[in-house]
Amino acid sequence: MEREAAQAELRARLIEAGHLYPQPYQGLWAFGGDFEAVLAGVERQVHLMEPLQGVRQMTFPPFLGEREFVATGYMNSFPQLIGSVDVFTGDNREHRKMVAAKDAGEDWTTYLTPAHLDLVSAPCHATYPMHAGTTLEEPVKYEVSSRCFRHEPSDDPMRLVSFRMREKVCFGTPEAAVEHRELGMRVGPELLRSMGLTIEVEPANDPFFGRAAQIFAQGQLDAGLKYEFVCKVYGDENSGTALGSSNYHNDHFGLDFDVHVPGGGLAHSSCIGFGLERVTVALFATHGMDVSTWPADVRAVLGLSSDEQSA
Ligand code: ATP
Ligand code: ZN
Repeated sequence: MEREAAQAELRARLIEAGHLYPQPYQGLWAFGGDFEAVLAGVERQVHLMEPLQGVRQMTFPPFLGEREFVATGYMNSFPQLIGSVDVFTGDNREHRKMVAAKDAGEDWTTYLTPAHLDLVSAPCHATYPMHAGTTLEEPVKYEVSSRCFRHEPSDDPMRLVSFRMREKVCFGTPEAAVEHRELGMRVGPELLRSMGLTIEVEPANDPFFGRAAQIFAQGQLDAGLKYEFVCKVYGDENSGTALGSSNYHNDHFGLDFDVHVPGGGLAHSSCIGFGLERVTVALFATHGMDVSTWPADVRAVLGLSSDEQSA
């Protein structure tokens, strides 16, 4: 089946089963109770995944201050995916003009001003600024999550505008960051396979923007910086979709945030990240729309006990 037809079929089955509810904005979805129960099980498994020791757990808001956001370099490389918040700061007169513009069917948003708040693209971006201008005596490890925004509106139920991501991050010496990335390439696929998913590990590149995109993407591939945990949700005849990835950023964030390691070198970082809705959709695509019929071992891994079902 063609990729688009396969997407449409999966989308229809998820909607029919009450797992996904389409919202009026393309790429924005609401989720049903069973979907959330499965997603919670996935999130719990990511939490239990190595590394566990010495890991600081943090849940971030879905926004980053503009200074920090810009410093991550995301706006330079992926402007097509970013979004920012506008707010109303005017007086009564301005308010009346804004309402009049709206009532006349004109663009009322021109009365808003930037809040200097940007939507988070990946939760690991919030960890690096916490160490800005410091020397890391020891590598630091985080387990982080947040709601992410990426402006890539699509009808593909695997590609959302707003989604949740949970990551394990390491920031420290090059050796520690590389070791963390290597660990991710082992434990990431293991975790997904324990849920009955068929996973391939593939070298990958990010969707860089503009004329230099191919050069950046090829550089990332050549340097082996990004490996994705890929599942063929749309059949063997179509390319797979990444459910997670293990990424080595080299000294990118150390340079951006002026973070060093003992001896004076820049701090290096790596992260192991999972898109929670993506993994959940892949589970429904693999095991069927009725969670009560899923294999017992998969239900056990996800904490979907039979008691819970009948309760
Ligand atoms: P893709 O190549 O599919 O666009 P990516 O390389 O941009 O993904 P990462 O930046 O590595 O993705 O993000 C980590 C994980 O977040 C992905 O493996 C995926 O599970 C999830 N993710 C990324 N973009 C989306 C999206 N638009 N909708 C849902 N999940 C997403
Ligand atoms: Zn990350």
